[in-house]
Amino acid sequence: MLTQRIKRLSPYIPGEQPQDRTYIKLNTNENPYPPTPEIVPFLKSFDIERLRLYPDPLFGPLRAAIAERFQLDSSQVFVGNGSDEVLAFAFYAFFDSARGRLLFPEFSYSFYPVYCDFYGIEYRKIPLDENFSIEINDYLAEERSCGIVFPNPNAPTGIVLPLKKITELLEQYPEDRVVVIDEAYIDFGGESAVSLIDRFKNLLVIRTFSKSMSLAALRLGFAMGDKDLVGALFAVKDSFNSYPADLIAQKIGEIAIRDTEYYRSITEKIIQSRESLSIQLEDLGWHVLPSGANFIFVEKKGLSGETVYKTLKEEGILVRYFNLEGIRNFVRITIGTHEDMEALMNSIRALF
Ligand code: PMP
Repeated sequence: MLTQRIKRLSPYIPGEQPQDRTYIKLNTNENPYPPTPEIVPFLKSFDIERLRLYPDPLFGPLRAAIAERFQLDSSQVFVGNGSDEVLAFAFYAFFDSARGRLLFPEFSYSFYPVYCDFYGIEYRKIPLDENFSIEINDYLAEERSCGIVFPNPNAPTGIVLPLKKITELLEQYPEDRVVVIDEAYIDFGGESAVSLIDRFKNLLVIRTFSKSMSLAALRLGFAMGDKDLVGALFAVKDSFNSYPADLIAQKIGEIAIRDTEYYRSITEKIIQSRESLSIQLEDLGWHVLPSGANFIFVEKKGLSGETVYKTLKEEGILVRYFNLEGIRNFVRITIGTHEDMEALMNSIRALF
């Protein structure tokens, strides 16, 4: 009954959402603060009559708002149903192993190999250096590759690759191969590569409304790059689903992208909590990788990631660990509210 294709799939496993009790949820990098309150009057006055009609397949006003925010032209902006979908379209449009393998870091977003398997793209995982950083020369040293993708800051490490390094990479990498920078966490630290878009026609920057904009439930992501890259993404979208972002999502996205002041204030709170948590854990002898994201990646000598995860889960705190050689002793902890972090530290002090 099933195709050979489906038998080859190895789906991504999202962070768990157990329903057996209330948890402090620090396992999927969601924002602990609500989205902009400007959304409330829009939803209260929304005329349901508008739901009769299909939404704008070109995402006109939303793309214009994103373009304005990043000083681009609308033709340089693409929108999709979460950045996962935008990534999936980008893999389809730009990566093809006839031209070599796709390169991404050994420890990185675990959806990348899933898309590769889905489309039959061969890939090579490039090891991180001894400090868990991306070393661009390792990518440039590869003889043949069809493209590069990595998150900046990287996930699950949280480590930022400086813009200078990204510039160097783009200067030396073949200009007919696309480099995708997945900036899901860039608002929490690091410098965006958006400023390089006009200079490098093979650069695609992907963003999400799920993390710094606290709208994970909305399912909205976007890509920014040369208009030819954006055109290719539209071609993929229009061969698959004309309307990946519904009317309400598009409108809320537009409201959110404009409210920079509110989002700056909650991002600042998250950064402060991250720094304070990192210091407290270091004082207790934990090894904390320097993070520019809304999570930290930490380990304590003598403890496996699984033990930390299981012990904290019994306490009602969810974190994430990855059962992979090389990072097995780490857990990834999403930054929550001040209260969440206090509860976490109380448990850690008592238990480890
Ligand atoms: N990229 C990275 C690095 C992520 O961690 C995530 C969140 N799981 C995403 C993309 C996807 O986010 P979304 O689909 O919610 O926009």
